Amino acid sequence: MSGHSSSNGKLAPAAFPPPVDSRKEFVKRGLDPEDELIEVGVVIVGGGTAGLACANRLLQLLADDPEMMERLGEVPVAVVEKAKTCGGHNLSGAVMRPGPLQELFPDVTREQWRQEGFAFGEVKKEAIYLLPNGKTKVRIPPPPPQRNHGNEVVSVSAMARFQQRQAEEAGAYILTETAATQLIVDEGRVVGVRSGDKGRGKDGEPLGNFEPGTDIKAQATVLAEGCWGHLTGAAIKEFDLADGREPQVWELGVKEVWKVAKPLDRVIHTLAGWPLKIPARYGQIGGSWIYPMKDEKSGDDLVSIGFVLDLDYADATTSAHDLLQQIKTHPLFRGILDGGERVAWGAKALPAGGYWAMPKLSMPGALLVGDSAGMVNLAALKGVHYSIKSGALAAESIYAALKRGESSFESYERVVEDSIIGKDLWEQRNTRQPFQKGLIKGGPLVNMMIATKGRFPGGRWALHRNDAKPMFIGKTKDSYPKPDGKYTFDKLSSVFITGNATRDDAPNHIRLRKRVPREIAETWRWMCPAGVYEIPEDAPEKGEVDVIVNYTNCVQCGAITAKGGRLTTPEGGDGPLYQLT
Ligand SMILES: Cc1cc2nc3c(=O)[nH]c(=O)nc-3n(C[C@H](O)[C@H](O)[C@H](O)COP(=O)(O)OP(=O)(O)OC[C@H]3O[C@@H](n4cnc5c(N)ncnc54)[C@H](O)[C@@H]3O)c2cc1C
Ligand code: SF4
Repeated sequence: MSGHSSSNGKLAPAAFPPPVDSRKEFVKRGLDPEDELIEVGVVIVGGGTAGLACANRLLQLLADDPEMMERLGEVPVAVVEKAKTCGGHNLSGAVMRPGPLQELFPDVTREQWRQEGFAFGEVKKEAIYLLPNGKTKVRIPPPPPQRNHGNEVVSVSAMARFQQRQAEEAGAYILTETAATQLIVDEGRVVGVRSGDKGRGKDGEPLGNFEPGTDIKAQATVLAEGCWGHLTGAAIKEFDLADGREPQVWELGVKEVWKVAKPLDRVIHTLAGWPLKIPARYGQIGGSWIYPMKDEKSGDDLVSIGFVLDLDYADATTSAHDLLQQIKTHPLFRGILDGGERVAWGAKALPAGGYWAMPKLSMPGALLVGDSAGMVNLAALKGVHYSIKSGALAAESIYAALKRGESSFESYERVVEDSIIGKDLWEQRNTRQPFQKGLIKGGPLVNMMIATKGRFPGGRWALHRNDAKPMFIGKTKDSYPKPDGKYTFDKLSSVFITGNATRDDAPNHIRLRKRVPREIAETWRWMCPAGVYEIPEDAPEKGEVDVIVNYTNCVQCGAITAKGGRLTTPEGGDGPLYQLT
């Protein structure tokens, strides 16, 4: 691309693409010799909600079919997870629709979920507010997708640990601290994945403890990598899975868990408005939540509080982390947090494009589940139950296909379309797009789309890529509160409490251009919730600046990939160790 301009003549991150060729770098052609590889039946990349639901469902089916179990070999089901333990890299709000988890484990009651420590109570009361400013609030009736009565407040991090225990008891082989770095394709078909090397230094040189990665050969590969999957991105390119779809778009959520003095009795959401700037030129859309969490094991009263920001904004100084700090100064939240203590923090991006942006769900030898497949209903802020459902449906489709001796998993696409996932996402198919016109123009259209379940104005509405949005350096940053270390915090002390354990001499896993116009550098600096990007103090006010990348702080939220960089997989075991998020 020439100069600093995007196609519209302004400074958009897309004009400065990261130096990455995913098909060349992240797709391996052919397997290593048989004696150098690990062979498993089904390999699942990602030990989050979706991947572990897939493992558990497959093992349930295999438990009743010893012949099939035998056909899948010594290791019928393997899960590859890059975090130190399953759950370590998982974060959600989270109010979950309970159905799919109840279907997956029909013998475990909701009371037992709470005793296991991943569920924190049924939603009995709820409230939704518009915030006109930093002092007042206006209560509105919840639109239908946002009704939460009867749902359960959970921690997906803790739920992944529960699902990991269930899967291990049923015979899954779970490789934690292991990143899958390449998709292995042979004769047009996925035949497994390669795990990443360990023990490389800053420049990629092998250190004393170097261990090379290994090919993991499988009869079926499930990509359950969550938002902005590394191999999912490579698979989408290799098999043209996004052809004819809208581009995927993203949101970034930053969350804290607080121990509070008084129990909160309801789930609360705020929509749009303060502290965001409403004029369309800022492109700022987002909202916040606060959910009660009663920890039945410790007896503690906790709350989950967070801010979700659409990554289609244009003011480079927009920061989801700082907006969360700001929202805590509103009396609505401050009253709940008073006398409390922050016990956890984390950040994660989520796919927001919905139905039209979902890629094709299968390719020869492999399929996509959960956030890897873009299965999130943004109007409801719900994805956990789709992850569980899609993992279970993938398991059933793989089992049925392998039993018939087939290696095509295309039937999974139809099953998803006919399930609650396809039905819900179809109803919300055009609710995301109008927001790309700004809140004032887009808001009423969104309400109409929700009210008519997508029928009005109907058709297929286009999305534009987040990195195509031209950026300017605005004044959003001027209203962020100064951290006081009690109620409001800076980015680095927040990263500290995630248990982030990336080696100081690890290779850099963030790909981006290191010299870019100030507008782009400021975008990265403010956007990153972990404070990874810095601009040297003596850099010029205008024109190109160097970007310093403190990649060891990265919490792998994935947001950088939406705004002009690329998160690739770090060494297995690196990154945060979330417990309660
Ligand atoms: C801020 C926020 C709030 C939300 N609130 C709600 C809510 O209230 N209710 C709701 O229902 N949904 C909510 N969602 C959506 C929901 O959290 C997700 O849809 C769901 O958790 C996705 O699960 P998943 O298993 O697909 O992905 P993930 O939970 O992201 O799991 C993916 C796993 O794969 C691992 N992985 C990725 N790549 C590799 C690799 N190459 N090698 C090895 N391991 C890999 C990761 O470490 C991770 O453990 C929210 C999401 C966010 C971000
Ligand atoms: S550097 Fe890491 S934490 Fe920061 S935006 Fe990128 S992926 Fe997120």
